[in-house]
Amino acid sequence: MQDLVILRPQGLYCPAGDFYIDPWRPVHRAVITHAHADHARAGHGHVLATAVSAGVLRSRLGAALPLQGLAYGEAVHHHGVRISLHPAGHVLGSAQVRLQHGGRVWVASGDYYLSAVDETNPTCEPFEPVRCDCFITESTFGLPIYRWQPQAAVFAEIDAWWRANAAAGRPSLLMAYSFGKAQRLLAGVDASIGSIIVHGAVAPLNAAYRAAGVPLPETPTLAEFADPQHLAAALRGALVVAPPAVHASAWARKLGDFSDGFASGWMQLRGARRRQGVDRGFVLSDHADWPGLQRAIAATGAERVIVTHGQEAVMVRWLQEQGLQAESFRTEYGTEGGEGPAPADASASTADADLATLAAGTPTLADTAAGEAAAGPA
Ligand SMILES: [Zn+2]
Ligand SMILES: [Zn+2]
Repeated sequence: MQDLVILRPQGLYCPAGDFYIDPWRPVHRAVITHAHADHARAGHGHVLATAVSAGVLRSRLGAALPLQGLAYGEAVHHHGVRISLHPAGHVLGSAQVRLQHGGRVWVASGDYYLSAVDETNPTCEPFEPVRCDCFITESTFGLPIYRWQPQAAVFAEIDAWWRANAAAGRPSLLMAYSFGKAQRLLAGVDASIGSIIVHGAVAPLNAAYRAAGVPLPETPTLAEFADPQHLAAALRGALVVAPPAVHASAWARKLGDFSDGFASGWMQLRGARRRQGVDRGFVLSDHADWPGLQRAIAATGAERVIVTHGQEAVMVRWLQEQGLQAESFRTEYGTEGGEGPAPADASASTADADLATLAAGTPTLADTAAGEAAAGPA
């Protein structure tokens, strides 16, 4: 019997249903797990995705996107394949794809978030384990060095940094991917510390989250302050959330004297922080850490696991040692979400990609040791 999902040059393909999952080339029919740029490419003839991701998908791929939205758990049948979408806990609307055909169940995870300490991302539906025969898992952070701290500890670090900067009268520029991470930060910080201002690339995504019922603090953009004196007053002690592309840019210079920080799972590697040249690195990821990946895989009950983007070789070896049938697919997804920003902000995608490339280099032993030490306050 042919596999329910195979690898084709265009992406992951379901031969029985004649459709693709998160293809990286334009295809006639695609199921999109979530709206990060490397998973949601333009040019498909028909797109199936969660209804809750429709706002972000349309803002990125155009209002004319031929999109069919599904509720979590709702099923459609295509050429005899039953397709349903289940929460992945990664970003707003993110889903795992469950396929059922000929008595078999396969699940393609897309990107997902699950941590060892059983925490969830408050800005989206939590990861739902789905029983299956074969699980196609991501492994962005599939190395034993990746173990996330409780998020309350990370937010306490961010709040303390912001509070100290506010006391000194300077803004705190916090850089993070504009879709997903930025909203998780906005939902998690202590908004009573001061005002919050966002970059123009972050604002439409905040609007999409609010429209989906996710509460976020008030977040004006710099452009909304017409009067330079009002802007200067607002910036004093403000938290400014912007995509990584603003680093050392003319936009950032408008903030005057500021402290900067970067929030990413890659910040667990001290090398990544140093190369990014920021004052502070905060280890916060929307992907599963090493124990989270293991928990997710175990919860599916799958006897066969196919590993995609990330640390495939290490994860495949570990799974085989556990007695599972494991292999990998070479995909063309990015690293941490590969999150390119909104199309209006095309310059940011290059910087995101650069950082991801830098940070995704195989960690050295020195990085590993530093990573453990760097998990505490810098
Ligand atoms: Zn991904
Ligand atoms: Zn993603």
